[in-house]
Amino acid sequence: MLRAIQIIGSSPGAVSSPLQRWKPYGNGFSFISISTKPWPSSRRAVASLLLPIVSVCGGGCFRAFRMSATRSESNQDGGSSSFSSSPSAFQPVGHIRKNSFCQWCGGRTKQDIPDGEEKMRAICTICGRIAYQNPKMVVGCLIVHDNKILLCQRKIQPSYGLWTLPAGYMEIGESAAEGAVRETWEEAGAEVEVLSPFAQLDIPLIGQTYIIFLAKMKKPHFSPGPESLDCQLFALDDIPFDSLAFSSMLVTLNLYIEDIKAGKPKFHYGTINKRPGTSPSDIHAYSLDYHLRS
Ligand SMILES: [Zn+2]
Repeated sequence: MLRAIQIIGSSPGAVSSPLQRWKPYGNGFSFISISTKPWPSSRRAVASLLLPIVSVCGGGCFRAFRMSATRSESNQDGGSSSFSSSPSAFQPVGHIRKNSFCQWCGGRTKQDIPDGEEKMRAICTICGRIAYQNPKMVVGCLIVHDNKILLCQRKIQPSYGLWTLPAGYMEIGESAAEGAVRETWEEAGAEVEVLSPFAQLDIPLIGQTYIIFLAKMKKPHFSPGPESLDCQLFALDDIPFDSLAFSSMLVTLNLYIEDIKAGKPKFHYGTINKRPGTSPSDIHAYSLDYHLRS
């Protein structure tokens, strides 16, 4: 259950873990085979050593979010499946960490439903405090440059060697946009300006929410950070869909390509649900539910 421990977030009042710095992504799913297809050499360049200052585009960059009842085409990559895309058909309960000891007094905890609540919680048998567990936020950037998208090849587990948008856990004390810019700097050595939100994707099963921003590089420079083997710009037709790290990235990139073909990017909200009975390593085995777009 280590993976579950790693991927489940904690509220400020919950038990902290040294694993909180563990890189995300989790779709919680283990590793998939790495394509042996060689990738073209990177156009990396030496980036500035200064941490970029967040630059969020001002008014007018993002049109007002208009809720639409339009459903997703559902699963572009899923192939045939008997699974209904109806959210009610599959309601994962998520992975809940068992906190055996209280973070405040060290007392043993018990699993119980607090008065007035409905869910099981870890309640301290000594001081009575409750360790709430809440989803974690993962923030990242979809950077477009010369009609190409910047991807990073992961140098860390999970999904070592596979490709992803630069993204990572949001830190306390920063906004989602600031976190996305920071993660991009850390993983791709690129100074970027956030242009607009592009997607919010919830993954209830593993307690994560992804917020991905459209962004542009301030300078055409990028270079793999310590957590990346490589960073490259990919034309839309060359995106390594057979070597992506996570379902969330697969969904994001597919939505972006769809939007570009249709004219321009929109804003998307959706829930990624793993299909029951499928291999956890299959990042294509998901359904995109509750898909709303601007
Ligand atoms: Zn206690």
